[in-house]
Amino acid sequence: MVVRKRVDFRIENMVHDWMDFAFPRSCVCCGDLLLRSEMEICWVCYSQLPFSVHGFGMNNPVAKSLWGRVPIWGGYYLLNYQSGTMTSSVLKSLKYDGGLIMANKLGKLMGEELYKQGFQQHCDGLIPVPMHPKKERKRGYNPALHLAEGIAEGLGVPVVNKALIKRNATVSQTRKNRLERWYQTQHQFDVVGEKLELKRIALVDDVFTTGATAERCLRSLYSVGVEQASVVSLAFTI
Ligand SMILES: [Zn+2]
Repeated sequence: MVVRKRVDFRIENMVHDWMDFAFPRSCVCCGDLLLRSEMEICWVCYSQLPFSVHGFGMNNPVAKSLWGRVPIWGGYYLLNYQSGTMTSSVLKSLKYDGGLIMANKLGKLMGEELYKQGFQQHCDGLIPVPMHPKKERKRGYNPALHLAEGIAEGLGVPVVNKALIKRNATVSQTRKNRLERWYQTQHQFDVVGEKLELKRIALVDDVFTTGATAERCLRSLYSVGVEQASVVSLAFTI
């Protein structure tokens, strides 16, 4: 039995070595070749990622951005975001397959952090912010879903995909003033179905900027029975 395990282990190593040789992977930030033990980002770049110092809660900047706009129970994010920084490379990489594996792994890291803070006792399901169906068909996947699946793994809370759908707004934009048009973009988020069984949810997105998307999603979710909502994002624009 022990001998068989050793042989299996050697074969697995040989397969990995061959895969690294045939399909070399490179870091999504610096482009250097990756070691087998590294995920889609090398350890040097990983150590330089601008991790947030804020824990989950009402005073997290994500939640604070939504104060007075929509009821919010708490917020959390992993990386500070500014254009041209390492986080910017991470977000760009989400558009490619390798980045998806990373979204999943960074999601798991977020889930483990949230688990340490006991968030699993206050959340029944994770709802990824949807992409417009046309855009999702073209790209083939929704990065927010992969992030949510990673969080689910670390947190032990299920993902509820397709609870929301992104549509072009039906309301005429022409009568609104410029600020209103900027704030309320041409998209709206509708809930699929008339009622959502989950009472306590966390909305998951890859990047949080003005909070307009989160606000619209939460409004829709509150309208179908959600009682307590939080927002969890991979990155937050500082
Ligand atoms: Zn790197």
